[in-house]
Amino acid sequence: MSVIAAASNTARALAPFANDDLEARARRLAMKYSGGDALEILRVAIKEEFPGRIALVSSFGAESAALLHLVSQVDKSVPVIFLETGKHFAQTISYRKRLAEKLGLTDVRNIRPNETVLQARDPAGDLWKRDADACCTLRKVEPLTPALEEFDAWITGRKQFHGGGRVNLPAFEASATHIKVNPLIRWSRIDINAYFEKNDLPAHPLTAQGYPSIGCWPCTHPAASGDDIRAGRWRGAAKTECGIHGRAPTQAVS
Ligand code: SF4
Repeated sequence: MSVIAAASNTARALAPFANDDLEARARRLAMKYSGGDALEILRVAIKEEFPGRIALVSSFGAESAALLHLVSQVDKSVPVIFLETGKHFAQTISYRKRLAEKLGLTDVRNIRPNETVLQARDPAGDLWKRDADACCTLRKVEPLTPALEEFDAWITGRKQFHGGGRVNLPAFEASATHIKVNPLIRWSRIDINAYFEKNDLPAHPLTAQGYPSIGCWPCTHPAASGDDIRAGRWRGAAKTECGIHGRAPTQAVS
């Protein structure tokens, strides 16, 4: 019996848990589905495990169209949360609109920082220069918390090949308050490019200018060929993540 089959049988023996906590539920789902393909993971998450209680958080960056397209194949009405930091490239804003229309996504939400809080903590809009962690907390982490309150789970586009804290990501993981679904953990850059081509997905306009990973304009730079895919993010700083995935993932099972 294969490891995955054995894990799957174990998971079946454990499931369903009516009141299992987040960690146990995430582990059960990771054991069962981390070897599955992305569409199956999404179908299970959207239709079976968290119907009406799951959202996708998307940056509408360089790779985002693949996951957005996959989700649209399962349910075009899944809420898509876009953290509108006020610091995105104009190209990202226009790309978001174009992509949402092409894919028929019906519930794309712009989540902005509270204006009063923004004026109090970053009145000149230059907090990113002095303290990028504080800026990400203000413009991303804090606005995301209330936006996720109505959901039990959210979908991310993180992939193991991105490196850093992502190399051991499982398909399902627990945060303090939610289950995070990571359907693309096993995808490589080649897989993403092939998926774009197969499904005629438009590229983010900045990818042609050498940006393999795209976030806010002050903290995103082109990367040299052969660099780590996220090398252009917060270039020159120790920072590698914005903080919305602040907690270490549970161990991958597969
Ligand atoms: S990525 Fe940069 S500009 Fe955007 S919220 Fe974080 S520190 Fe601020």
